[in-house]
Amino acid sequence: MLRRLMLISLAVFMFIEWGPLTAERSKYGIAKGNPFIKEVVLTFDDGPRETGMQEIDAVLSSFDVKATFFLVGKFADRNSPVTLMLHRQGYEIANHTYTHPRLYQDHTAHIVRQAERCDEVLENLGIRKTRFLRPPGGHFNMEIFNAMRRMNLPLGLWSLNTADYTGRPPEEIYNIVAGSVRNGDIILMHSGTPNTVEALPRIIRELHRRGFTIVRLEDLWNGGRT
Ligand SMILES: [Zn+2]
Repeated sequence: MLRRLMLISLAVFMFIEWGPLTAERSKYGIAKGNPFIKEVVLTFDDGPRETGMQEIDAVLSSFDVKATFFLVGKFADRNSPVTLMLHRQGYEIANHTYTHPRLYQDHTAHIVRQAERCDEVLENLGIRKTRFLRPPGGHFNMEIFNAMRRMNLPLGLWSLNTADYTGRPPEEIYNIVAGSVRNGDIILMHSGTPNTVEALPRIIRELHRRGFTIVRLEDLWNGGRT
């Protein structure tokens, strides 16, 4: 089962990874943007947390940078003032399910329900239907794939994992980005991780110094289609 899952994941990832020059990519999702355009996306998963969100906003705002937040529906509901703050500030809000389950172990109906419930919370707060779903852990299979196609909700994966959830120090988080960032990278970070907030100003300064434009996932998606 695990082997099958891995093979499917690999095949789909390769398809998405190498597909940016074809229109096909856009039907299913995005793991990386156009390799010929000097753009990257900063994504923050698992929020909104009780703490640390204002700090992320303060850093991003100080550089006038817009990021993409993959929110967990139950947290978005519980911390609705923070959810609304992110929306008001012009960040892209995307779907990270309602309870952050292992989606690849679920049946289609549950997968759809998880995505729908997250969207319902956001829509009740006046946030329009989200554009992307990121399955927890980035694991996906054909069941998830088909469910998302039915919902017309593309997968929003990533290509550069800072692994900031491991508790690694800010210096390491910075080094991972600075050492491997490429055109079109979608950078995975997490909300409520103090070391990430600490590393963030240096990361953004370095990206700007190298001439990268930091865009939202939707911008990268649209750019990749032209
Ligand atoms: Zn997550």
